[in-house]
Amino acid sequence: MKIPIDITSGEIKTSDQNLSKTIIGIDLGTTNSLVSYIENGQAKAIPDASGKRTLVPSVIYFNEQNEAIIGDAAIEMQTIHPERTIYSIKRMMGRSYNDVMKDGITHGYKVIAPESEEALVRIQVGEKFFTPIDLSALILKELKKRAQDFLKQEVNACVITVPAYFNDAQRQATRDAGKLAGLDVLRIVNEPTAASLGYGVGLSRDEEKTIAVYDLGGGTFDISILKVEDGIFEVLSTHGDTHLGGDDFDQLIVEYWKEKYGINETSFSANDFNQTLRMAAIKAKKILSSESKASVTINDLKLELSKSTFDELIDNLVQKTIASCKQAMEDAQLTINDIDLVVMVGGSTRVPKVYDEVEQFFGKKPYTGVDPDEVVALGAAIQADILAGNRKDLLLLDVTPLSLGIETVGGLMDTIIPRNSKVPIRAARNYTTSVDGQSNLRVTVYQGERELVENNRKLGEFILKDIPPMVAGMPKIEIAFILDADGILTVRAKELRSNKATQVEIKSAYGISEEEMALMLLDSIRNAEKDMSQRSIKEAVVEASMVLNATDKFVKQNVDIFSESEIITLAEKAEKLQQMVIQENKDQILSAMDELNNYSRPLAERAMDRAVALALKGNKV
Ligand code: ADP
Ligand code: MG
Repeated sequence: MKIPIDITSGEIKTSDQNLSKTIIGIDLGTTNSLVSYIENGQAKAIPDASGKRTLVPSVIYFNEQNEAIIGDAAIEMQTIHPERTIYSIKRMMGRSYNDVMKDGITHGYKVIAPESEEALVRIQVGEKFFTPIDLSALILKELKKRAQDFLKQEVNACVITVPAYFNDAQRQATRDAGKLAGLDVLRIVNEPTAASLGYGVGLSRDEEKTIAVYDLGGGTFDISILKVEDGIFEVLSTHGDTHLGGDDFDQLIVEYWKEKYGINETSFSANDFNQTLRMAAIKAKKILSSESKASVTINDLKLELSKSTFDELIDNLVQKTIASCKQAMEDAQLTINDIDLVVMVGGSTRVPKVYDEVEQFFGKKPYTGVDPDEVVALGAAIQADILAGNRKDLLLLDVTPLSLGIETVGGLMDTIIPRNSKVPIRAARNYTTSVDGQSNLRVTVYQGERELVENNRKLGEFILKDIPPMVAGMPKIEIAFILDADGILTVRAKELRSNKATQVEIKSAYGISEEEMALMLLDSIRNAEKDMSQRSIKEAVVEASMVLNATDKFVKQNVDIFSESEIITLAEKAEKLQQMVIQENKDQILSAMDELNNYSRPLAERAMDRAVALALKGNKV
């Protein structure tokens, strides 16, 4: 089926309709956030009051008066008051307590289970409770304030970037955080798309390029393959790992030191032993980006690390990112030669080994001209500029990471928007009823790659009501999926004969982690054969049920023209088919169905002859 791409649905609305004001671009990162704007057509990161630092660590410290202190000042408190210092909040956006616990990452602060399974996780600081949205809003407020102080004007509108794999719950949570911070979020943009814009790639009309964006940050890794043509950005594929980044490098260094020097809690005095070691590891890691040896001291304990040892420690993790690159290339159905340029994003791409491995894999020197910490935010500002109407010739298309579809008879998944489709997108398919006079139709929406819905993830359901009574198969029900530019899905069902319609915006209560997503994909590949056979069994069962119903109806209508033995034989053959349906054996179902059909065909012809004869007679009278 050909899927129309509806690029007009990405229109913007603003609450004040005043687009002449500056729209800021925000990179709300796991580790660091920053804000940027356009000055004289150039994207610029907005610095702090000192004019030197643009990065705002995504860390919040609540002081004894419960005031939120954000950024560098909060970082210092991580070792002193870990229970009051919140970091990596982005990992929890739009996710349930169970999802977060599955990560197995321990925090110095308290993450608590909500009252209901559906609710988002909460973070407890002292007597107060916060959702991840509340906390992200605090960071966004700080960025907004920074922008207002610097630009000396009120700022109300922004573009915020999110990882390409963020699902609708995670995007919605990000949007809500913006709202809470007093910002009108005009668009949620995928980070790799912003990064590519940040490099100025695709800003001229006649450019046609295929780009690999490699983003290794503090806690996450992303690879995206983009295509730019005629000023249109398309994401061809994405892959990655939400639990792989610079934090893991730090952890490996800590473990290495603990073992090498036999360090334990008594080795030095510090308020928080683990945090202090972590800070030392980060220091050493950064030194190794330009030196071949690093040495850091805690009190009088000297800790050393050579570049070659560090490279060995992180080798596995770096290879994992390369495996993701391979997968993304396969998903995009491209070979290395198709890639015109490689873009490096994220602080961890400063690690020389990372750079070298990426260069080797893609066979070309990656772009590093723009600061890898700032490039996403700069791109967000360019996107904001496009939305403000200053660059009318640009459009942005992104991609959906998992297939979206509905459940059909037999528990089968019917995909409406395939995985890796570009968004915004509208796709529709026609369905019908399975029972005579059916007045309601339940539409259940799923996400995933497996053939049976029970193996996929349910996103929501609704009921199309008051379908006028019709024979099964008569109603023509169009189910349309509209995935907007932010990746938020609206599902519409409409009975075309009666124009009865209903629609729902799918907001899953909580999201799906990158790991789960990877698992679902892996699962679908591993189980492809089994799924296909299960699917064909289910299809045979559905077909057999239809044949059995029709046979039953047909015997009842024609009982007068069939002999008793014919009726008995028909009943026996129907019974046999029924048995095979119960046993769910596809081949036996098909052969029993053939047998029944072969036997009933001449009977059906006889019944038909009579019907025709009756009709002719009727005509004559
Ligand atoms: P995020 O996108 O997750 O917010 P960033 O892109 O800001 O993250 O990257 C933060 C990570 O980059 C941290 O793990 C930090 O330690 C690491 N990093 C920053 N500078 C360097 C450097 N010079 N060498 C190695 N790693 C670095
Ligand atoms: Mg980032």
